[in-house]
Formats: sequence, C-alpha cells, structure tokens
Amino acid sequence: MQPVILLVTLDTTRADRLGIETNLVDTPHLKALAGRGVYFEQAYSVTPTTLPSHTSMLTGLYPADHLVRENGRQVDKKLDLLPALLKSRGYDTAAFVSGFPLASQFGLSRGFDHYDDTFDNDAVERPATGTTDLAVAWLKGRTSPYFMWVHYFDPHEPYQPPEPFRSQYPNEPYLGEIAYMDQEFGRLVTAFEEHNQGRPWKIIVVGDHGEGLGEHGEMLHGNLLYQGTMRVPLFVAGSGIEAGISDRAVGVRQVYDTVLDWSGESRASSLLGAQAEPVLAEALKPYMQYGWQPQFMAVLDGIKVISSGDIEIYDVRIDPGETDNLDSQIEPEPALWDAIEAYSIRALADQPQERQTLSQEALDKLASLGYIGSSGNSRVREDAPNPRDMVHLYRDLDIGAGLFIRQDYAAAIPVFARILEADPYNFMAALRLAVAYSVTNNVAQAQKFFDRARTIDPSSTDLRHYQAMHYMQNKQWDLARPLFESVLVESQDRLPALTGLAQVYTRQGEIKLALRQLERITKIKASPGLEWTRIGPLRMALHDTKGAIRAFELARKILDDQFTFHLELGLLYMAAQRLSEAASSLDRVSSQHPAYPMALYKRAQTSVLLRENDREQRVRQAWVRADKTTRPLIENESLFRDISFR
Ligand SMILES: [Zn+2]
Repeated sequence: MQPVILLVTLDTTRADRLGIETNLVDTPHLKALAGRGVYFEQAYSVTPTTLPSHTSMLTGLYPADHLVRENGRQVDKKLDLLPALLKSRGYDTAAFVSGFPLASQFGLSRGFDHYDDTFDNDAVERPATGTTDLAVAWLKGRTSPYFMWVHYFDPHEPYQPPEPFRSQYPNEPYLGEIAYMDQEFGRLVTAFEEHNQGRPWKIIVVGDHGEGLGEHGEMLHGNLLYQGTMRVPLFVAGSGIEAGISDRAVGVRQVYDTVLDWSGESRASSLLGAQAEPVLAEALKPYMQYGWQPQFMAVLDGIKVISSGDIEIYDVRIDPGETDNLDSQIEPEPALWDAIEAYSIRALADQPQERQTLSQEALDKLASLGYIGSSGNSRVREDAPNPRDMVHLYRDLDIGAGLFIRQDYAAAIPVFARILEADPYNFMAALRLAVAYSVTNNVAQAQKFFDRARTIDPSSTDLRHYQAMHYMQNKQWDLARPLFESVLVESQDRLPALTGLAQVYTRQGEIKLALRQLERITKIKASPGLEWTRIGPLRMALHDTKGAIRAFELARKILDDQFTFHLELGLLYMAAQRLSEAASSLDRVSSQHPAYPMALYKRAQTSVLLRENDREQRVRQAWVRADKTTRPLIENESLFRDISFR
C-alpha cells in the first residue's frame, strides 16, 4: 500500500536553533517527531535562498542544473517536478506555501492539484496558523494516497512572533517565531496522524536555508556559505522508519529522491539509501550582482571545503563555528576537489536561463523581503574581492538596492557613494549612482559616474541603456539614438529600450521607424494598451485612417475604462464614413476633456448626418458649450444652416 506523504519545509530555520539541538528554544513537537525518526546532523541547503532551494527539493537538481539561481526567476517548464511524477503514480497532490518567493507565478505550482499561495491583501507572507488551517481542511475526506507540501515562512525576517511567544522570547524574536512555528507544526502533524490511522505514512521535515544571525558578519542569508545559513534541520519519520541519528552529509536536493522512493520508485540517492557522495552548494548573489568571487562548497565526512577565489577547509564536526581554517594542514579527499571543480565549471558556464519580466508589484514584494535580482550580466572582476571580506557592505548594498526599486533616488545617492568608495570597481554601484544623479537632474555628476562605470566595464549593455535614458531626459535625441540602437542589437526584446527608441524617433520625425519599435512591443508585451494609444496618433500623422482606427480600437479593448482617445477615434470614424460608430465614440468623450466643445460640435455634425431625432438639441448644446475654436465653426457650418441654435 502506497504511503501518504507529508513534506514540511521550514523557511530560514537554523538547525542549531530548534529544540532538537539546543535548549535556547522550546520546540516540543519538532523534537518529539524527530526523536521517532532519523535525524540528519549534517544536512545542507544547495544555496541560501528560498526559491532555488525549494526548486532543488522538487527537481532533485542543483541550481547549476535547474538554473533557478535567485528568487524572482522562473522555473523552467521543461523540468520534471515531483508532484507531476507522484500524480502519475496515483497520488493527489497539494501545496500550502507561506511566502511570496514561492508564489505560483514563479513556477513551482506546476503539477499540483491544489496550490495555495493566497495571502491577506498585499501581504508577502502568511502566518503558520492560516497555512495550517488550510492544510488541515484539505485533509478532510481524502481517501486516495496523497502528497502534501506545507511551507512555513515565520522565521524569515521581520521577526514578529505572536503572543505568547513574543513575551516568552522578548530579546530573541527569531526564536519566538520558531517556537510559534513549532506549535502550528504540532497541530498539523496531529491532524495528519489522526487522519491516516491504519494507513502507512511518511513525513519529511527540512529547512530551506538558515540565518546568519551575525556569524561571520552576516545577519540574514544569501551572501555567504557558512554553517549558520547552510546547515539545515532535516529528518524523516513514519511507518517502517526506525529512530536513529545520521552524521552523513546530505542535501535538501535528496528530498526529491526520498519522496519518489517512498512512492514506490526505488532511488539510490534517497536519504535512507546507502550512498554517500559530496554534498554541493553555491552562493552566487555577490558574484551575480557585484562581480565578486563566486562561492562554492562541498562537504563529505564532516570536512567542508569553500572555494571563493581561495580555499577554506573546516572540520565542521569539531569546529561548527568555522574559526579554524585547515587549508595547508589537511588534504581533503580527491572526490571533494573533483566535485567542487566540476560543479563550479558547470555553474559558471554560459547557460540560457528562463527570463522573466517581473511586474513592479512583484519586484516590490521581493524587495520588501530583502531580495533584489541581478541584471544577468555576470562576470568575475579582475580585482574581485572575496565576499567574506566585504560583509561591512552588505547592509548598504541591500538598502541601496531597495531604495532603487522604490525609486527613491535622492536617498540612494549617499548609499551608493559610500559603497563605491569602499569598493571602487563596483560597476553596479557606479552605474546606479549615475542613474540616481540623472533622474534627480544633476547632469554633471551623472556624466561623471557614467564615465566611471565605462572605465570599469566598457562593454556593458546596461550602461549604454541607462546613458541613453539620461540623454533622452535631457532631450539630446541625437546622442540617445545610437546607444538605444546598439542595445537593441544585443537584446532585441528589451522593452524600455524599445519604448525609449520609439520616443526618440518620434521626436526626430522618423514616424515609420517609431512605429516599427512600438509594433514590436505590441508583440512582446501582454497588454500593450499604452503602445496602441501611441501608434494611433502616428498612424494619423501618416494619414493612415484605417491603421489609426485599428490601433485605437485595440487600445480601447485593452484599456477599457482607462481609454481616453474617444475624440480621436470618433473623428477617425467620421473620416471613414462610419457614422454610428463615430456617434457612440464621441458620446464617450468626458466632459472634463479639454477639447470637449470640439467633441460636442463633431457629435452635432454626426447627428445631423445621421438625421437623429435629437439633432437640433445637439447643435444647440454644442453652441451653448462652444469655445473660441468651435464657435466660428458652428456659425459657418453648412450642415446647421436650417437649425436655429442661437
Ligand atoms: Zn527561504
């Protein structure tokens, strides 16, 4: 009989901050279940970031292979995800996630019968109680074998535990969140066991990554590879699993093989299998965003190697704080070196990545959780510093990036100036400083830092793009044009560059070239309503009535209530002799429109041409509301000759 399977993932939970390993915090439910199962003392994340780590759990692949390197990326549709495979083995599948980085828009929901990522209003997370309620409700009445994934996000900062945990851990709110999560975990497991009486069941509990809590200078997670963020809680329990403790190094990637193994498909890499292999991980955020050294790690038999431009070696069984670098003192097994080298080559190879254009709302939500995406043009600087030596900058880097996303450029200037002073070859800092000065109209400083960015990386596409935007802002169309054109040679779908170039061409009177850019955007963008409103007037300028009507009609369809070109469309319909459409379009011109008198005049003309019953009334109304443009037109209008309107 196939067992029912529960996967519980604990976000941002350090292995040494659960009651299983420490007395600092009380987590009776997690501790009790771990005691009934196999607890892995050396379990590791694949990378200290939520979406990539969970993607590894659901694909069995490392980030270098599934290519989700950071939050906000898109999981490749070609990847086999665990729920789809379980479905084919007869399982019902459901997921209840609690943090925005796992929202279904990023692709992990594929294959689940039910995927719940609904948060209150604009919240970016859901407290454990809400998630548990939904998961417990889903269990009711379920008879088929099922796979349920429940994700708790509470220990992620901001640390704001509810009462009584806030009072129980007044100075350690992070631990308060963990204690609260444990309470809800207990409720979930109780319901799960009650529901499954007489039927085999299995549970796997795992952290996606930990939290630095100041160790090695890192407060949160994502920038370094030390134990605080990389070693995670991991245990399995259930029917047929004997209690025990394993000190073999294992990874979150093996969740995939373990669950498949339980469902009846034998897998050698299952956590309960006999196979020991080096466990790998990466932390590439500083590399992707600032060009610093890429970081990789491998662990086997308690020996951990970190490669980040230089080598660190720790025996983490006796030195979990990683204070004693054994590099020059011991020689790790060749298997460790081979594994880390092969992985780093794969990880740094140019790989096509599923690109995703995130909405401003999604960017804001990720930024509110501290996640800022890279621009995707990664390379190692010649002077690339080691990320562990730059911890004093992480706070400013995160603050500056957040201010940028919120478009608070004035506040971002001193932050990026500080960063650039500390890290003079930081291209991202130089470029953002230039952009911030440009947007705040400090032309001289903007030029200075664009030049600075160019000396650091003369080939950057981003640099040319933002400098073109800068020239455009200063109406220097001739300077902006070649830069936008060269950006689009390299990335032809870059929307802001297409938009910018269309504007430059329009200003230069190159109507046909402008139209070509705008029409390209309409093919790329999901709802290009604004673009169609720009195409309409350009078509009118070319006397292309048919093309202009089509553009405005498409814009109206997309923009609906937000469409404001009823007057233009009405005039075009009149020119095309489509009088009843002209009438209804002109009827929709707002009385707040500056050319409202013109709309009334044109509507009166249409009315007379259509011989409508109220045509005299409409002519009188146009006369009463006439302005200095329409008054002489109405007085001399031959269509109104037989109507007394004065
Ligand atoms: Zn996470």
